[in-house]
Amino acid sequence: MKLYMPTIVYSESDCVRKHAQEIGKLGTKALIVTGRHSARKNGSLLDVQAALDEQGISYVIYDKIEENPSVETVMEARDFGLAHAADFVIGIGGGSPLDAAKAIALMMKHPDLDERVLYQPIPLQYLPLVCVPTTCGTGSETTPYAILTLHSQRTKQSIRHRIFPQLALLDAKYLRSLSRQGLVHTCVDALAHLVESYLNTNSNELNRIYSTQGLRMWAQFKEHLKEDALTQEDYWQMLHTSMIAGMAIAQTGTSLPHGMSYPLTYEMGVPHGKAVGVFLGGYVSLYRDREAAADVLQLLGFTDCEELCRYLKELLGELSVSEELLQQDAQRILQNPEKLKNYPFAVTLEELKDLFF
Ligand code: NAP
Ligand code: FE
Repeated sequence: MKLYMPTIVYSESDCVRKHAQEIGKLGTKALIVTGRHSARKNGSLLDVQAALDEQGISYVIYDKIEENPSVETVMEARDFGLAHAADFVIGIGGGSPLDAAKAIALMMKHPDLDERVLYQPIPLQYLPLVCVPTTCGTGSETTPYAILTLHSQRTKQSIRHRIFPQLALLDAKYLRSLSRQGLVHTCVDALAHLVESYLNTNSNELNRIYSTQGLRMWAQFKEHLKEDALTQEDYWQMLHTSMIAGMAIAQTGTSLPHGMSYPLTYEMGVPHGKAVGVFLGGYVSLYRDREAAADVLQLLGFTDCEELCRYLKELLGELSVSEELLQQDAQRILQNPEKLKNYPFAVTLEELKDLFF
């Protein structure tokens, strides 16, 4: 058994401002990587700018990261960062800017290499990286993964490099500007990370400390989330659950629901959390180690799989996916050993299609 979790995490009110000194130790000029709008609205960008100003560190801002960021965007941001001689990276936002920031930190360290190395298994260094999450789903601040859109292959794929941020700074105030849908989708993504980590080939007694605790925490806000009656405490709990779920998949990886989700996002534009969530109840139903599946349900406070499925359907709403897309999706998974290796049992095409809602 092995555990590896090198990211230093701080979580408190005004976290970014309070840890300005630690940010300041990471370099002399920062490249801030974020999306187009949200970091300005929720105050996270202003906090990072104030922290850097306080430390006398200059910075440039690349604020064009799109949802499900592409390799092309990463390369454009890399060139921008290099042109301004930045020597460390600060990602602010949901999983999209955080994942992009990881890939940018890697590519900036190797100005002579092109984007092909993102998908080659060669060990490469990366620039120091700080992550400030503003959604409560991906846990990217504590995972080594970066998922990028590959337009050439009409899908999304995790890059081959494991990039843990040096520093993750958590503050639940940034979540307050998320829409109801944004909250729901990202909370369901965190739930999927916990379930897929617990029910996984790589799951063991040691790394289940993360998934077990995370599932218990998710249970505590699940009714408030459904009823749209979240409290101040719930926001902190959702942020911490997402971070712990990141630690869980950092050890085990995800499994079939994440694998099945990518074509729904690429072909239909379904947000990541919803695209994963529609396969989640089916995954717990399918999982052949029934004792482990029962543990998950019990930790979440559901009496059976049907109750979990009903809950998810009510939370996420309907989604119609064509038989043809599901068929192609399942076939693609079956042909890819990488996608199957985290599911410890044999699986058929019909079973994969049946994971859907
Ligand atoms: P996201 O794609 O980063 O952001 C979705 C939308 O939410 C954007 O429009 C963004 O606006 C907005 N937004 C972000 N924070 C906000 C806030 N506090 N208030 C209001 N709006 C806000 O969403 P995400 O679900 O967090 O990330 C999904 C990505 O992460 C996918 O690419 C997925 O594959 C990846 N992922 C990564 C991991 C991992 O381990 N690294 C795990 C799971 C998923 P702006 O564009 O204006 O910022
Ligand atoms: Fe995810």
